[in-house]
Amino acid sequence: MCFFTEFNRTCLISFLLIELVKMLEKMEERFDPEAVIEEFETLSRDAGRVQRETLQKILDENGGTEYMQRCGLNGRSDPDSFKACVPIVSHSDLEPYIQRIADGNSPCALTGKPITTISLSSGTTQGKPKFVPFNDELMESTMQIYKTSFAYRNREYPIGNGKALQFIYSSKQFKTKGGLAAGTATTNVYRNAQFKKTMRAMQTPCCSPDEVIFGPDFHQSLYCHLLCGLIFRDEVQVVSSTFAHSIVHAFRTFEQVWEELVTDIREGTLSSRITVPSIRAAMGKLLEPNPELANTIYSKISGLSNWYGLIQELFPSTKYIYGIMTGSMEPYLKKLRHYAGELPLLSADYGSSEGWIGANVNPKLTPEVATFAVLPNIGYFEFIPLREDLNCQGQEAKPVELTDVKIGEEYEILITNFAGLYRYRLGDVVKVKGFHNSTPELQFICRRNLLLTINIDKNTEKDLQLAVEAAAQLLAGEKLEVVDFTSRVDLLSEPGHYVVFWEISGDPQDELLQECCNCLDRSFVDAGYLSSRKVRAIGPLELRIVRKGTFHKILDHYVGLGAAVSQFKTPRCVGPTNNTVLQILSVNAVRSYFSTAY
Ligand code: AMP
Repeated sequence: MCFFTEFNRTCLISFLLIELVKMLEKMEERFDPEAVIEEFETLSRDAGRVQRETLQKILDENGGTEYMQRCGLNGRSDPDSFKACVPIVSHSDLEPYIQRIADGNSPCALTGKPITTISLSSGTTQGKPKFVPFNDELMESTMQIYKTSFAYRNREYPIGNGKALQFIYSSKQFKTKGGLAAGTATTNVYRNAQFKKTMRAMQTPCCSPDEVIFGPDFHQSLYCHLLCGLIFRDEVQVVSSTFAHSIVHAFRTFEQVWEELVTDIREGTLSSRITVPSIRAAMGKLLEPNPELANTIYSKISGLSNWYGLIQELFPSTKYIYGIMTGSMEPYLKKLRHYAGELPLLSADYGSSEGWIGANVNPKLTPEVATFAVLPNIGYFEFIPLREDLNCQGQEAKPVELTDVKIGEEYEILITNFAGLYRYRLGDVVKVKGFHNSTPELQFICRRNLLLTINIDKNTEKDLQLAVEAAAQLLAGEKLEVVDFTSRVDLLSEPGHYVVFWEISGDPQDELLQECCNCLDRSFVDAGYLSSRKVRAIGPLELRIVRKGTFHKILDHYVGLGAAVSQFKTPRCVGPTNNTVLQILSVNAVRSYFSTAY
């Protein structure tokens, strides 16, 4: 009897201890959105001072490095000395340092603390991934950005406890020659324990198990993300990805595989297309025969017209769709809105493998006008004005500081951060739309180096996007759409001309495509292009139609190079040395039209 009481007491104590640990874990995990907002408000009210302090901190930590010593700062950490001594650089200038770090020869060449991880930028713009340093400070600023935008988002679109259907994928990780872990920046983030903790704190843990996120084959991971979403369909509150392209890609795939997904749910078995043992084992734990759920999904899909509102129907508790939707993601918005139905699209933050820049603190703005408020404590930011009259005689204008930018002006961003980049050209063009307290709100415009140019013409990624949008309108009447697009300049023909590649959802008549081609040509309104076209210094624009699935082949090619699907951006202009992509486009071209617009 006495033994029994003792046993009961031990059980009770163990139970209480377990509950206490759970409670403490929950308390540690929870974060207070209002406190996060208050912190950002304080930082942004005094952005100038915070910038100077941040620069000082960066230089105090890294002043003794080989790179800084070469610059001759000699311990000074004020902005003027910094700008006088440290040159503006591109990735190629820092490459020798980063390579030595990756080779294990000088881990502290750029930072006081040794760099132990390398990120691979997506490489869709240059054709091959670049190495950039990654460290704890970058991880921390990533979480700060996530939490900041979440706090503002949650004010407007509050969510309760639930899950997120996140189309996130890890890329292959490998060791560099010097033994450093290397992977895409998103992979480095997803693998970090902080990431999961933050997602739990934001009440949006991913509904897929790690085996799916970190699986070696993204086609299989994507299928299982969809399956997990359906299994947890009532709990899904947010559908997201890093770049919106992944969401559109996922639901385009859903259209192909939905019957198989429904069968898996009905029978509690996993499709034979999933062959990776770890994924099969993890999914096996989630699946059980559920004919009722299968019937519900079936009837929801049967009630749809042309897949409109698919996401809303499949995941009825979803509050919003979230991901980067600006810049090169804008062409996917139409399709995303179609799948989303009435659900709001909330555009995610602005950053890069090199470091974060700003958070979306105005979640109600549509993606087309979304802005990013710069976090003044995560790096020291400078802005090269791009106004023509300031760039005289081929000389670039002097960069200005964060708080000196002007509303309505466009700039190229320079980053100085805690991971060894100093006055680093990110290559992005942004426009200042306003200020949040004293920190600017930036709109992403385009990549600076992505230019279609033959002689005096200059057309950016944005110009191409607008031209494609205008011409694609002509297809709308036939209920057809441009699935994806890219371009290149053909300098082998005489005179040179632009080539635009389209993948289309159907098979329009030649006359219609000829019209689209003329419309594309006319929609490039840059004065240099117009005048060159009129005097035939640039030849007629060529529209090439490629086979269905061509852009998936391009994606597969980049994934094979080590890029992450999570960070994938279709290259909008393919350079002359990007042979594999040019080859994919060329062998898949099925029709070609030359403009008769001029
Ligand atoms: P990555 O090479 O994968 O690190 O991609 C970084 C690049 O993606 C940036 O330099 C931008 O060109 C683009 N990017 C990142 N965030 C955004 C955003 N919110 N809007 C538009 N483009 C973005």
